[in-house]
Amino acid sequence: MFEFTKEQEMIRAMVREFADTELAPKALEFDRKGEFPLEQVRKLGALGIIGIASSREYGGSKAGHLPAVIAVEEIARVYPSLAFILEVEQAPLYMIETWGTPDQKQAWLPPLIRGERIAAVAATEPTGGSDLSTLNTTAVANGDDYLLNGRKVYITNGGVGDWVLVLARTGERASILALEKGAPGFVVSRRQEMMGFRSGDVCELGFSNCRVPKTNLIGKEGGGQAIAMATFTVSRAAVGAVGLGIARGAFDIALKYAKERVLYGKPIANLQAIQFMLVDMDTEIDAARWLIYHPAACLDRGMGPRDIGKLSARAKYIGGEVAASVTMKAMQILGGYGVSPEYHLTRLLADAVEIFPATGTPQIMKFIQALEIVK
Ligand SMILES: Cc1cc2nc3c(=O)[nH]c(=O)nc-3n(C[C@H](O)[C@H](O)[C@H](O)COP(=O)(O)OP(=O)(O)OC[C@H]3O[C@@H](n4cnc5c(N)ncnc54)[C@H](O)[C@@H]3O)c2cc1C
Repeated sequence: MFEFTKEQEMIRAMVREFADTELAPKALEFDRKGEFPLEQVRKLGALGIIGIASSREYGGSKAGHLPAVIAVEEIARVYPSLAFILEVEQAPLYMIETWGTPDQKQAWLPPLIRGERIAAVAATEPTGGSDLSTLNTTAVANGDDYLLNGRKVYITNGGVGDWVLVLARTGERASILALEKGAPGFVVSRRQEMMGFRSGDVCELGFSNCRVPKTNLIGKEGGGQAIAMATFTVSRAAVGAVGLGIARGAFDIALKYAKERVLYGKPIANLQAIQFMLVDMDTEIDAARWLIYHPAACLDRGMGPRDIGKLSARAKYIGGEVAASVTMKAMQILGGYGVSPEYHLTRLLADAVEIFPATGTPQIMKFIQALEIVK
């Protein structure tokens, strides 16, 4: 069992209050319109939530990975799209802080942490996200620049992003290049229509002889695949936390409804069949919670990506499972109202299933775990 520090409890309370007062009233409207919540992202920056795991030197609070996971969970209860945006932002922050040069860190991290700028990570291509060895995007050295050519799909924050950290082939191996918005030859081809995370900004991107200064290379040339894998490993607990938050949001709706809905002269919460569903939902949430916190807590205790591969893949996997399973049970408790958008559960289910492919499919999460289990 986890013992939370006073600081972690305070962070949870602060984010929960912000979510309930500032986000809950607007979430449905933003999602309905498919609007990116720019003002809310800025507020998350101003409150210190974006840079919760980043160093103080760059404006972060260095509270840790577990507090970041807690913040994502609390926001996802009421506004999963924004929680997902916050989770995605953790990846470029981690990449730049861990592998960036001192100049890159000074220039890029503070505005990202303040929420004034937004970054995206672009790895997936139309030929398949699970198998990055088929990478077709290339970056060829040309004077002081690289010439970038290729296409990326499903890039969260791809349209609104001020920087896109692109995984591209530089010779035999891949590298990470920070591409700035507005660079000639860089186009946001389209915003991709998605079932869930409706106010997220998932885009297809194109690069055509796009010049990226060599000073924008993150880490060593040829080290991109290893950087991407380590970053995804670190950020997977936060993806799981989006699912945990969705499950908690669905559970709260179902419990409230069960206490208020009267059948046969009594609230349906008195029916054992309903109680058993609530018990199952509560148990699933509790089990998932500890699996999701575990890899983040390990990182805060000084472990690295290599130590938490199995744990973080499991956390991400269980996040998708608990979100979908609990939301579907909640829908059953609400009867016909469960499938009415007015009661929010349809939106939560759409967001829940979108967790399955994001940052690696359930099958890939099992594959990663199997590598450690069946050595
Ligand atoms: C909401 C959302 C946000 C996203 N954001 C980003 C982002 O910001 N940046 C980014 O780069 N990408 C992003 N992605 C893309 C995501 O990472 C990919 O969708 C994911 O990696 C799967 O790739 P794919 O869709 O090409 O499926 P494929 O790789 O084509 O997989 C197809 C099927 O094959 C299965 N499969 C593949 N390999 C194996 C194997 N070895 N064993 C068993 N089964 C296997 C998969 O599990 C799946 O069922 C996002 C996706 C979503 C849905």
